Amino acid sequence: MESAREQGTRAAVAAAAAALHQRLAPGMTRAECEAHAPWVVRIQELKRERRAVVLAHNYMAPEIFHGVADLKGDSLALAYQAAETDAEVVVVAGVHFMAETAKLVSPEKTVLCPDLRAGCSLAASITAADVRALRQQHPGVPVVTYVNTSAAVKAESDICCTSGNAVQVVRSLGVPRVIFLPDAYLGQWVAAQSGVELILWQGHCEVHERFSGEQLRTFRAAHPGVRVLAHPECPPDALAEADYVGSTAEMIRYVGAERPPRVALITECSMSDNVAAGFPELEFVRPCTLCPHMKRLTLPNIASALERLEQRVEIEPALAERARAAVERMLAITSSAVSSAGAPRAEPRRAAAS
Ligand code: SF4
Repeated sequence: MESAREQGTRAAVAAAAAALHQRLAPGMTRAECEAHAPWVVRIQELKRERRAVVLAHNYMAPEIFHGVADLKGDSLALAYQAAETDAEVVVVAGVHFMAETAKLVSPEKTVLCPDLRAGCSLAASITAADVRALRQQHPGVPVVTYVNTSAAVKAESDICCTSGNAVQVVRSLGVPRVIFLPDAYLGQWVAAQSGVELILWQGHCEVHERFSGEQLRTFRAAHPGVRVLAHPECPPDALAEADYVGSTAEMIRYVGAERPPRVALITECSMSDNVAAGFPELEFVRPCTLCPHMKRLTLPNIASALERLEQRVEIEPALAERARAAVERMLAITSSAVSSAGAPRAEPRRAAAS
């Protein structure tokens, strides 16, 4: 005979499946929602027990983003939003550098990275020793580092930036040359927008570098009237074909403000799924690419992280202080970069050729 507790769990699972399906159909079937629901219920229980919050990056699978996330968005905004909570434990549904950023901002909290293998081709492209060598080659030239880097690389930098505020940060330095690390395509975009000469590193996002101008022209011909929004980590020929270039947060704001009836987000696949759930009246068409690192995050490994309180992210305090200083210099310049709600703000920028 089923106990009252078992009956309660069964009802909670049924309710979670129904809620997921209401939010994510037709992109996710009822059977898929029913398979995810027991994990959703277990994670919600564990969050209460552990006084935990789950941060979900925009590229997380929809069952994570819409099923268990307390805070959603870009990595830096998520880190600052988490710091404002009274949670004791922060689970980062994102890649390792994002968990490090959360730890930098909340050193007193337990920060968990459910799968330590969740890396990033950009973060892996450069080391702290590389930054020191560049400084020696270019004495006196300031170093601006994209937040998609390790804490050790941030610690060697003068100032950090996001894809949303990179132009503002570079311009704010008031110098003719800047070392910009590590994304070469983002750097090319920022150089064109800012008029500042940038010394670039040949790092690339393995997701965004796969888009091309030819692909987008073919795609546009196949989907008449589509509005094409691209992330500045894409190659220049892809950006030249876009109607709008912006960070993930800027793309979401653009969709909300402009409501294009047919739209394509030229970025990681799950972002389209997650944004589309909030705009059922719009048609999201998608040439997109999956990030294998982001896809290492699953409901089972989030549940496991909460059960075992592992894998904990730790950063050596002196290094953390230097890395945090680079982030805080960015925030001092872009004082509105993180709003009270934590969402990064930046002026939208049109692609040079659209
Ligand atoms: S999408 Fe690109 S930048 Fe983001 S984690 Fe994956 S490889 Fe790194």
